[in-house]
Amino acid sequence: MTSAAPPLLSVEGLVKHFPARTGFIGRANGVVRAVDGIDFEIAAGETMALVGESGCGKSTTGRLVLRLIEPTAGRIRFEGRDLLALNGAELRAQRRALQIIFQDPYASLNPRMTVGQTLAEPLALHGLAPGRHRERVVQLLGLVGLTAQHAERYPHEFSGGQRQRVGIARALAAEPRLIICDEPVSALDVSIQAQVINLLSDLQRNLGLSYVFIAHDLAIVKHIAARVAVMYLGRIVEYGNKRSLFASPRHPYTQALLSAIPVPHPGERRQRIILQGDVPSALDPPSGCRFRTRCPYARQRCTDEEPVLGEADGHAVACHFWREIAPPALVAVAARRDLRLERLQAAFRGPAGDHRAGEQPVGDAVISLPSGGAAPPAE
Ligand code: SF4
Repeated sequence: MTSAAPPLLSVEGLVKHFPARTGFIGRANGVVRAVDGIDFEIAAGETMALVGESGCGKSTTGRLVLRLIEPTAGRIRFEGRDLLALNGAELRAQRRALQIIFQDPYASLNPRMTVGQTLAEPLALHGLAPGRHRERVVQLLGLVGLTAQHAERYPHEFSGGQRQRVGIARALAAEPRLIICDEPVSALDVSIQAQVINLLSDLQRNLGLSYVFIAHDLAIVKHIAARVAVMYLGRIVEYGNKRSLFASPRHPYTQALLSAIPVPHPGERRQRIILQGDVPSALDPPSGCRFRTRCPYARQRCTDEEPVLGEADGHAVACHFWREIAPPALVAVAARRDLRLERLQAAFRGPAGDHRAGEQPVGDAVISLPSGGAAPPAE
C-alpha cells in the first residue's frame, strides 16, 4: 500500500494493546486489541482518511502517530526518521512538525486563557516568531478567517465553528507539516462542517500540509481525502484511492458504510445494507475474519482463516471472497416516483382519450358529470 510520491509518514505493523483491568486492585485480565497491525503511508501534501465506527482504533492510531501514547509494536517513520527512536529534546523538536485538531474544540481549549494567549503558547514553547508573537497571532487568526479582535476573547465567547477555527489556528502555530484531524467536524452543524472542510482544503493548498483525517462518516471524507483506509476492530479492511473506493467498494463493511450515503443524483439511491448485530469486543475479537459475525456473505473459511489485506490495481481489501461480492447497486427511484405521479395525475385528468364528454375520471373510476360540467357535490 504505497503512494506514488515518497512518503512523508510511513506506518508499518502498528500495534497497540491496552491491558484490561478489573477489580479493586486493577488486576489485568485480558488485552484490548485497539490497533492490531496496520500499515499505511502518506505523501507530502496528501490527505488520507481513516474511517470506521467508534472503537475501531482510528483515534488510537492518530495518537500513536503523535506518540501521545506508546505503541506495543510497529514502526513509525516521519520524513525518513524513526519516530519511536526519538527521545527528549529530539522528540519535542519533531513533534512541532506533527500537530492535532481535536473533535471537541471547547474541551481542547483552556477556558481561562484568551485566544491570543492560547495561540502564543506554542510560539513560546517552540521559540517561534521571537519578539513578534502578537503579529504572528493576528496572522494565524487571519489564516482561519478570524480577526485581530478575536485574540482578546475567551473560548466561551465563540460559536462551535469559530472555536474549531481557533483549534486549527493553534495547530498551525507550530508550523506543522502533518496534522492529525481527529473528527474535526463531527460536533458541528452540517452547514458549518462544509465551511471547516473548505478551510482545511484551502490551508492544505496554501501551506502544503498533509492530513490524517479521522472520521466515522464516509460522506465527510469524500470531499477532502485523496486516499481512504477503512478500519474495523483494529485492522484496516480496505484501502484505496478515493475514486476507486467510492466507485467500487470491495469489502462488505465498506459497502454497508457507503450504502448509507445519499447519491447526488435525485433519480437514484443506493441499495441500503443494514448490518446486523454490534461490533464485537476488542477484548475478544472473532476468529478468522473479524467482520464475520456481521457479514451477510460469511462462510466457513471466514471462521477458519483470517483474510490478509491483498492489493489488486492499487486497491487493497481484506476479504476472501471480494471478487464474488458485487457492490450495492444504484436503484432508480425516479421511475417509481413517476408511476405514483402518473396515478395521481390520472386521478384528476384520466388517461388521454379514455373518457367520454361529460364524464370525469377519479382514480380508476369514471363518474358522470351533470350537463353543466361541474363535479357532483361530495356526500
Ligand atoms: Fe465477509 Fe468472509 Fe469477506 Fe470476512 S472474509 S468480509 S466474513 S466474506
